[in-house]
Amino acid sequence: TRIFIPLDSFAVANGADELCDELTHLAARRGLDIEIVRNGSRGMAWLEPLVEVETHQGRIGYGPIEPGEMEALLDAGLMNGGAHAKCIGDPEEHPFMKGQTRLTFKRCGVTDPLSLDDYEAHGGLIGLKRAIEMGGAGVVDEVTESGLRGRGGAGFPTGIKWKTVREAAGERKYIVANADEGDSGTFADRMIMEGDPFCLIEGMAIAAVATGATKGYIYLRSEYPVAIRVMREAIRRATAAGVLGVSMMGSAQAFDIEVRVGAGAYVCGEETSLLDSLEGKRGQVRFKPPLPAIKGLFGRPTVINNVISLASTPEILAKGAKFYKDFGMGRSRGTIPLQIAGNVRHGGLFEVAFGLTLGEIVEGIAGGTDTGKPIRAVQVGGPLGAYFPRALFDTPFDYEAFAEKNGLIGHAGIVIFDEDVDMKKQARFAFEFCAIESCGKCTPCRIGAVRGLETMDKVIGGENVSGNLELVEDLCNTMQFGSLCALGGFTPYPVMSAIRHFPEDFEGTPMRVA
Ligand code: SF4
Repeated sequence: TRIFIPLDSFAVANGADELCDELTHLAARRGLDIEIVRNGSRGMAWLEPLVEVETHQGRIGYGPIEPGEMEALLDAGLMNGGAHAKCIGDPEEHPFMKGQTRLTFKRCGVTDPLSLDDYEAHGGLIGLKRAIEMGGAGVVDEVTESGLRGRGGAGFPTGIKWKTVREAAGERKYIVANADEGDSGTFADRMIMEGDPFCLIEGMAIAAVATGATKGYIYLRSEYPVAIRVMREAIRRATAAGVLGVSMMGSAQAFDIEVRVGAGAYVCGEETSLLDSLEGKRGQVRFKPPLPAIKGLFGRPTVINNVISLASTPEILAKGAKFYKDFGMGRSRGTIPLQIAGNVRHGGLFEVAFGLTLGEIVEGIAGGTDTGKPIRAVQVGGPLGAYFPRALFDTPFDYEAFAEKNGLIGHAGIVIFDEDVDMKKQARFAFEFCAIESCGKCTPCRIGAVRGLETMDKVIGGENVSGNLELVEDLCNTMQFGSLCALGGFTPYPVMSAIRHFPEDFEGTPMRVA
């Protein structure tokens, strides 16, 4: 009997490794014939660790199972999918799963992440085979036609980036996967690397076919030890199986991939800073031009894409551009893995076509707050994203619609706050975050964040509130338009959205900062 206990960090943080030990021990004592499969997470974070068993009627899930509960679960008939208070039935029939369109994450939580056979049995490698048959120009056209835009936050069309690298002169070209997922409340990159690593490998190989690159790097943050381990092992297995190597999938092209571990700087998620760090330098933002597509890693033409952008391409190549493009709205095509976190009842990963309204996401899918109090603010797009009030809950999830409301969807992280949130503190936090993480290269960000923090402290202390708020606005204007990169340039989003949408928090009695 196959029993699935996720290796995903959601599950491990809640005792999944201990559950495996318990189950191994109990199975030996009871003489049970079991195979434990360490799968990825399906994304229902509140149910982790979600233990599943393969039965004649399909998979049956139980969650969240805490360490110490395994014996009772076995007594309840886990081996046959027996009844238990924490039984959720077939996980795929769960309302949270039923509402999704899983294209990129279709295997995550379902398969054994490190089994290439399992990967192929669930549709893996079809896209890469087709890419090799089509040739580079065809792949670039297909990805351009699909409408895929960078999922890291900038929303730049992936096909155009690939075309630039394809046409750039260079004896050596690189594919770099940006896995420095530093935004608070985001975990899509981690989930795919832990739960379906071959999908990222295949996406990078497709990018290599498109551009003629021969070497790939995954710049993976050190805070993700499970992802690092799983990715490295998956690369080793893909290389042993000939998917990567001197003759990628039996083609005439060589392509191999290496994992490089980041050292914890938020700014290294910015593409040029990431390249500096990969080259062994201190991660600092580069001036553009030249674009990395022309002069990137070690001065060579480089595709640098977010993990999810790359992991979206196997399905696009396998099913065709039209299939993918049919999902979504406006210029936001395909699906987006929403990451719902914060004070939330049903947090986790929800992959869906663009176009749901923010209200449908946070009140419908997420089920409101965990405290049961009304939602007051939602921050979308990481620590540099704007705070949305209830009045803007009708905004559809789409790059342009969010930009129109002075927000951004970023990497699609959604953090929910209830009515107890103090927006003064949130505005202060944005400056504080920027001051800590600034790379120091440009003045508006390096000095602006510190001055912003000081000024916000004066506002919080009740000192000349309106005058100091005016100063903050002026400073935000300078940071937004004068900063070299998005760290300084986007810090004004959380600050100004907090001030504009929640003015009552800035006019009240002075408070003390904790
Ligand atoms: Fe560095 Fe900040 Fe300037 Fe970006 S905005 S280059 S992080 S100092």
